[in-house]
This record gives sequence, structure tokens and C-alpha cells, in this order.
Amino acid sequence: MKATNFLVDSKEKFRIKDCPTTPDDKLSKEEGEKRTAGNIEEMINLQDVFYASQKYSLLLIFQALDAAGKDGTIKHVMSGLNPQGTEVHSFKQPSTEEISHDYLWRAHEKLPERGMIGIFNRSYYEDVLVVRVHNLLNNILYPDVIHNDDIWQKRFRQINDFEKYLHENGTIILKFFLNISKEEQARRFIKRIDDKSKNWKFSEGDIKEREHWDDYQKAFQETLAVTSTKTSPWYVIPADKKWYARLAVSEIIVNKLKELKLTYPQVSKEQLLKLQAYKKMLEDK
Ligand code: AMP
Ligand code: MG
Repeated sequence: MKATNFLVDSKEKFRIKDCPTTPDDKLSKEEGEKRTAGNIEEMINLQDVFYASQKYSLLLIFQALDAAGKDGTIKHVMSGLNPQGTEVHSFKQPSTEEISHDYLWRAHEKLPERGMIGIFNRSYYEDVLVVRVHNLLNNILYPDVIHNDDIWQKRFRQINDFEKYLHENGTIILKFFLNISKEEQARRFIKRIDDKSKNWKFSEGDIKEREHWDDYQKAFQETLAVTSTKTSPWYVIPADKKWYARLAVSEIIVNKLKELKLTYPQVSKEQLLKLQAYKKMLEDK
């Protein structure tokens, strides 16, 4: 498995239907799970330095259709990390207050501080996905300039500008689209109906959304193609096998953290001498 295989790196040629939903290598589940466990172990150490160095923020964005495994992937891949250095935000339908602002407003205040790993479970990308598919803009009182044909192109540009701004200010961004097949989604919905402990996860809305499958694929295709950039890349993760999605996501995060080559902050010579003096004081007591 090579993480770069999942990178969206060609705007013109990118076709979502060419992206696999199942693993296309020979890795066994057992082998894969072992590798994921190793990645998580590595991530724990890398996060420690990331937090201590206070240099960058890391923003991980997860988008997908229902039942693709966003919650499970986040839970699994982040297990073991120091909760003090991570924060997860789920973006639901905007509140009255949120909708009275520009669409990036609610995301901006949830961005991770330096040293922190921030996870967005859905994000401002909903504003070019669900909002586009369901034409939700018509329900909002906006100035006339916004109700224009090129609204989506404008939003793509705004998002690219926003992410560039974040990058230039020390936020590292990785974006994951968990790519599930329509058949696997049906299987998971049936499981949610059959398994009493999973009933709460199923809503009538899920069936309604499924009817818009093709519209979503189209919206995702354009979004991913236009907003995957060198500094803020999209990865399309095959998500029909949960263990494989977890492996791919953990691998991409670990690679990125390693690339930064961060080190613990160094203390000055004077500070070191002081530390030795304090130690002596403590030992003398
Ligand atoms: P869930 O993630 O299953 O709890 O569902 C959250 C719901 O909120 C999804 O149906 C999203 O499409 C919806 N949602 C998130 N952001 C927005 C938004 N900006 N506008 C409209 N709906 C949204
Ligand atoms: Mg849902």
C-alpha cells in the first residue's frame, strides 16, 4: 500500500469512478491491522513532539457519504493519542447563529491551536456538497450577489484561498474522502437496522440521501478535483473495508508528521545550569 496512490493530483483527469473502494493490493487483513497498530504507536510519539514544539497545527478533514466510516476511522486512528493535544469537531446542520454568518465563520473558530491536532468530522466542504445537491442556498436570505450561477466556482476559490492562508500561517491540512461503494452502503444500513445497538445510527434521512447518490458523486468529483492542492491535498481512501481505510489514513498522517522532522524545544545553556541548581536544591531537602 502506497499512500501517494490515493492522492488527488490531477485536476483534469480526476474521475471519482476510477477510484477504488476496495483495496487493490495483496495485503491481508491481519497484516494490515498490524501495520495500523504500528502507525498508531508511532503517531503517539510524533504527537508528543508535535505538541511540545508548538510550531504547527494539524488539521484533518473527513468527508464522505453516510455510513462510509468517518466516526469509526476517527475513533480508531486517534485512539492512543494524548487527548490534551487533540480536538474533534462535528459539523451538523448550521444553527441560526451560524447561518447568519459567512459559511467559513463556524469553521474558523474551531481550528486547532499551534501544537494541536484538530479533526473536522464534516466541514465547510458541506457548503459545496449537501448545500449544492439540495439547493439549500435558496432557503437563506443572502445578498443578491451570492445567488449567482458561478457561486460554486467562487466558493471553490474561497476555500482554496482560505486553506492557503491557513497553510501560510502554520496549519498543515490533510483531507480524506472515504470512498464507499453503493452496495457496501446498503449492507451497512441493513446492519444498522438488524443490530439493535446500531438502530440509533440509522435515520430516514439516510435513505433519502442515498437517492441522491449520483448527484453527490458529481459534486464530490468536482470539489476534490478543484480543491486538492499541493499544500492542502485530498486523499480518496478505499473505504469498503474498514481495516484498510484505517491503515491508509494512519499511514498518511504518520508520513506527514515524520516529514516535519520536529524536535523537542532546546533549552539554553543558562537554563540548563539553572536546572542543575534546582535539582541540587531538591536533593538537599
Ligand atoms: P451526521 O454527520 O450524520 O450527524 O449528520 C450531520 C448532517 O448535517 C448531515 O446530513 C450533513 O449533510 C448536515 N450538514 C453539515 N453541514 C451542513 C451545512 N453547512 N448545511 C446543511 N447541512 C449540513
Ligand atoms: Mg448520518
